[in-house]
Amino acid sequence: MKTIGLIGGMSAESTTVYYQLINRLVRERLGGLHSAQIALWSLDFAPIAELQAKDDWAATGVILADAARRLEGAGAQAILICANTMHLNYAEVAGAVSAPVIHIADATAEALKAKGVTKALLLATRFTMEKPFYAERLAAQGIETVTPPKGDRDRLHAIIYDELVVGVITEASRAAVLQMIQDAKAAGCDGIVFGCTEIGLLLDVAAMPLPAVDTAVAHCEAAVDFALA
Ligand code: GLU
Repeated sequence: MKTIGLIGGMSAESTTVYYQLINRLVRERLGGLHSAQIALWSLDFAPIAELQAKDDWAATGVILADAARRLEGAGAQAILICANTMHLNYAEVAGAVSAPVIHIADATAEALKAKGVTKALLLATRFTMEKPFYAERLAAQGIETVTPPKGDRDRLHAIIYDELVVGVITEASRAAVLQMIQDAKAAGCDGIVFGCTEIGLLLDVAAMPLPAVDTAVAHCEAAVDFALA
């Protein structure tokens, strides 16, 4: 089994999901007492979020590249950035190590294609919804994305940063995001991307009115495929 390196802490709430799910998937596939070989470098999210808010992606890139080098030094044979937004620094991270860096949008595209989704509602941070890096990566694999209207994007961004990353789950936020999904369905979307690794803490991916992919789950599945190949 190969060792998986996780750049976590973005946020710690979803990194917990990665750790638990990767271990569970390895146990399901290998049986018995098997669990995953994982190296985790968990960052303090506060300085990262400050740099994000300043649009200083050069500075976050230096921090993430350093984390990737530390993980490779610890024996990681593949690296995962455990957040969608921070794939803005994919090139810096991939350039810092010789191990492959498994891209969350590629894993997500595979999962969307398996469900027959062609036009998906992208639910994510403002950065992931409004900058081109993520939509372009999905478009390259034949998946069109649409985002909620501006007011809803601002609401969703606030739900992620004020609630989900600090472990706060509320019925009001759940209802608000479900309404965004219903609006997108009415507008012709045929699928949903939980494009922030904390959205699965708020909504049940299996109980959506459209086929949905939780990017954290797709990313963990791709990591386990790699580790056990
Ligand atoms: N975990 C989130 C994501 O998947 C949001 C936190 C962050 O900006 O890193 O984008």
